[in-house]
Amino acid sequence: MNKHSRPDAVPAVPAASPVMIQYHEIKEANPGCLLFFRMGDFYELFFDDAVAAAQALDIALTKRGRHEGADIPMCGVPVHTAETYLARLIRAGFKVAMCDQIEDPAEARRRGGKGPVRRAVVRVVTAGTLTEEGLLDARRHNYLAGLAEAGGEIGLAWLDLSTGGFALAPTSEPALAGDLARLMPGEILLPERMLTRPALFELFAEWKPALTPLPNARFESDAARRRLENFYGVGALDGYGNFGRAELAAAGALVDYVGLTQQGRAPHLEPPRRVAPGTVMQIDAATRRNLELVSTLTGERRGSLLATVDRTVTAAGARLLADHLGGPLTEPAAISARLDAVQFFADRPEARTALRERLKRCPDIERALTRLSLGRGGPRDLAALCRSLGETASLREMLAAPGLIPLPERLTEARHGLGEHGILVERLGRALAAELPLFARDGGFVAAGYSDELDEWRSLRDESRRMIAGLQARYAGETAIAALKIRHNNVIGYYIEVAANHAGKLGPEFIHRQTMAGAQRYTTAELADLETKIASAAERALALELRLYEDLVAEVMARRAEIAAAAAALAILDVAAALAELAGEAAWVRPAIEESTAFEISGGRHPTVEAALAAAGNAGGFVANDCVLAENRIWLVTGPNMAGKSTFLRQNALIAILAQMGSYVPAQSARIGIVDRLFSRVGAADDLARGRSTFMVEMVETAAILNQAGPRGFVILDEIGRGTATFDGLSIAWACLEHLHEVNRCRTLFATHYHELTALAAKLPALACHTMRVKEWKGDVVFLHEVGPGTADRSYGIHVAKLAGLPKSATARAEEVLSVLEKGEQGGALARLADDLPLFSAARRRAEPAPSVSAAEALLGETRPDELTPREALDLVYRLKGLVSE
Ligand code: ADP
Repeated sequence: MNKHSRPDAVPAVPAASPVMIQYHEIKEANPGCLLFFRMGDFYELFFDDAVAAAQALDIALTKRGRHEGADIPMCGVPVHTAETYLARLIRAGFKVAMCDQIEDPAEARRRGGKGPVRRAVVRVVTAGTLTEEGLLDARRHNYLAGLAEAGGEIGLAWLDLSTGGFALAPTSEPALAGDLARLMPGEILLPERMLTRPALFELFAEWKPALTPLPNARFESDAARRRLENFYGVGALDGYGNFGRAELAAAGALVDYVGLTQQGRAPHLEPPRRVAPGTVMQIDAATRRNLELVSTLTGERRGSLLATVDRTVTAAGARLLADHLGGPLTEPAAISARLDAVQFFADRPEARTALRERLKRCPDIERALTRLSLGRGGPRDLAALCRSLGETASLREMLAAPGLIPLPERLTEARHGLGEHGILVERLGRALAAELPLFARDGGFVAAGYSDELDEWRSLRDESRRMIAGLQARYAGETAIAALKIRHNNVIGYYIEVAANHAGKLGPEFIHRQTMAGAQRYTTAELADLETKIASAAERALALELRLYEDLVAEVMARRAEIAAAAAALAILDVAAALAELAGEAAWVRPAIEESTAFEISGGRHPTVEAALAAAGNAGGFVANDCVLAENRIWLVTGPNMAGKSTFLRQNALIAILAQMGSYVPAQSARIGIVDRLFSRVGAADDLARGRSTFMVEMVETAAILNQAGPRGFVILDEIGRGTATFDGLSIAWACLEHLHEVNRCRTLFATHYHELTALAAKLPALACHTMRVKEWKGDVVFLHEVGPGTADRSYGIHVAKLAGLPKSATARAEEVLSVLEKGEQGGALARLADDLPLFSAARRRAEPAPSVSAAEALLGETRPDELTPREALDLVYRLKGLVSE
């Protein structure tokens, strides 16, 4: 269970007040949730809920009445700011049941005053079922995922309630971690018994805050099938795809849960889309992290691949792009279809710019539509629909321009999907005022001229207001109190206010209402009469507005499938144009994708490193590199630290991802045979939270690669064996390389600082050695960031240590040790070295006075000024300066 769950049953007592009895009933019917109990303008929480919420929200804990002899703890949040508090509670892992007053208190009184106002839970808010703008990241999906098992298989389903997207797929114990890492669901439903699968212990521990275990019976596949058929009103689901039982069970549980949390309101959900096995590139969680696909290793979005390539201009486009990037495809035809759309816009910059200008004006209608369908939308959601759907007509026209025909297939479909919404747009445009309140209940959103009746009530209301102003002037004249004012507040309504010292001047028609500090408040029969008129006109106007609002929402709902299709089409157009924009900006090329194991990149670049260099003012500073894996499908890359090995490895993995998601790639040319699984083992980080050392993490990830990579896989391995003793590490790296060559037979880039491994090139025919070029220049090492055939002869680790500022005495000593080690007579020589008073000599060296003649002085001593040409003299000054600054 969720970490915040607690015993829910609050014992009801006969002596409790009627409201408290009502509270207990509702509380018991909603186990596992905090109960937000509406009382007037506040949501109140009681008992343990109050204690937990007060702590999580850092608000005051008060008390209300007594229960079984003890004070009842209570805290509350104002209704109009409840969303902010909700957001914090959901983020802290709570679920919240929102219990509203479902009748007007006045109605309750009319009922005869028996019992408290009727209340009911109208919604249960959980991390996976959010729909409010304020609770969601506009540019990312928030998935509710479901897991189920049937017939020995595991099924996975996921939906985004806020947009209506719904999909399912078969999965398996080993694949599940990667699938979840791809979707990053906000909440995962699963049958309780699944928690006991030993193979999934660790995975579930990682996802614990997001898990919602439910009784096994909710994941029954036959019931799930029926539930889905009911939901979509179809006799059979076959029209949507051929679903496995486990997948259906998972999908059925999701629909059930949505019904429960939305209290029966049916949201818009697209028909479930089946993601067939093998149609998406498999990328495990560690690889995603290592490659910094959607966030960097430090958890930021900036600097990730997604942030670097995202040029979308709409929220729905951004979400679609993130989905594409997270799940690159494996079918060349599907990838080419996406690439055709990108190329179309890449080749037509003007059409692209015009399209993007229009798209920028399109607010997020996917989420607006969902809010409206769940009864929690508002006038602004209608306006969003009006604006976006209004753009579809011109977009459609634009895409039909003679110069653009024929469109590639994907764009033809998108154009078709935009649909025809003229009538709805026209009506919404006429109905909605220019300035809109957030909630319909605030009124004032229907434009003048839309409804004659409404206009009448409004003018009556406004007329009466003018009459109040007239009344004030008249009273002020009659009483000779110039400062007499007619004001309004929510407690006593309209009143006449005069300063206390004028009170004596008022006649008997002024009825005293309130005494304030220094002022007196009155009313008159005339004022009371006007007030009633205003109130009833305003009330009728609002009631009518609400009816008109419901009509508009009903009209939208009647067309929700078409609107959802338009939303999807807008997102597709945005992604295609955005990737084309990126390609144009950064001179990327269209990759050739094929069913083979080719991998030929010429002039490849690392998108984020290149962008970072450009941002730092070094545009063009990135050195492009080729990578051709053919007969030599394994490249063993050696080279000093900091020479660019990791960058080279990662850039090729990223190019494969970009290509297969349907994007252009940062290279001069690229030919890529489909990669079905991508693995990376890069860098080393202790995973202390999971109680694993660096080395253990490294080995777990390496094991996954050696056990799972097949001939269509692509592996990048960086510095395997680094976390243990040298010989240990070298032997592991050696064995891994052989295994990859003989057993996995996949395309591999293997970076290492064990130069000994290059000896394997002679033995393993598919292995080629490459190295990062460096130039030694006047005792310094310059990294060229160029990859070329061959092997590095040295590691230059000591050079990097010098750059990093290790004390000179330490680096000098390291050089001594290295030269002994390199001679290979390790045993005896090392012993001798150790005897050679390391500490004392280091200490002595540090204490040694600086040589009495510095290098600069020595150079000056050698100089014969009379023999220098002006040019040589200038050079000398530079050399001296260099020596001094060293
Ligand atoms: P290694 O893995 O060999 O230690 P890295 O790949 O981490 O080296 O690269 C170190 C730094 O060198 C990077 O942060 C980057 O700034 C720079 N670099 C790497 N490759 C290139 C390149 N091809 N062109 C320009 N700079 C590069």
